[in-house]
Amino acid sequence: MLKIGLTGGIGAGKSTAARELARLGAVVIDADRIARDVVEPGTPGLAAVVAAFGPGILRADGSLDRAALGRLVFADPDARRRLGEITHPLVGRESARREAAAPQEAIVVHDVPLIVENGLAGRYNLVVVVGADEDVRVGRLVRDRGMTREEALARVRAQATDEQRRAVADVWLDNSGTPEELVQQVHRLWEERLVPENERLLATRN
Ligand code: ADP
Repeated sequence: MLKIGLTGGIGAGKSTAARELARLGAVVIDADRIARDVVEPGTPGLAAVVAAFGPGILRADGSLDRAALGRLVFADPDARRRLGEITHPLVGRESARREAAAPQEAIVVHDVPLIVENGLAGRYNLVVVVGADEDVRVGRLVRDRGMTREEALARVRAQATDEQRRAVADVWLDNSGTPEELVQQVHRLWEERLVPENERLLATRN
């Protein structure tokens, strides 16, 4: 099993690359998706978040008010740390469970926005970073996610820098061009690097 960590700054195109890897046959484990699942109504995760931050972070229907929680932790690094202490172990455990459930010959792609910020690079055989210039990323967030320019810039600047990402990247996919160009790079990566490295790993196991 080859374990890939896929990351990139918001708006860079990480999700687009993950979709293409799934299409090629990778088992993709989406950390953002799991992070939402572990705080669904009725979970111990949501109970712990409410115990830490109060019922003000719930909507009337009892589900998590992500926007309210997001505002709270964005403004307060200590709150962000406490939230991470609750959610990171839950996400880690569920990701590990899904990885263990994948076939031994699988290429597993962990789609994780904060590999660099949270120092997780050591968990993977290979770290793949999707990159695009800051102004390109901001433009996409404004166009596709309904953010203002200021909101988009604030989100981008709250994350790691490209320099920090380059320091942990084994592979850098440049997504400043067209989506088709990204897809081509993903195909090349799959055929020329991921499949052969996975085969080497499987051969040394036997
Ligand atoms: P991330 O997961 O890194 O935040 P996404 O893959 O969701 O980024 O891409 C951000 C937005 O930009 C999406 O709406 C996506 O469709 C679009 N997008 C991705 N790659 C390109 C590209 N090369 N050119 C134009 N738009 C793109």
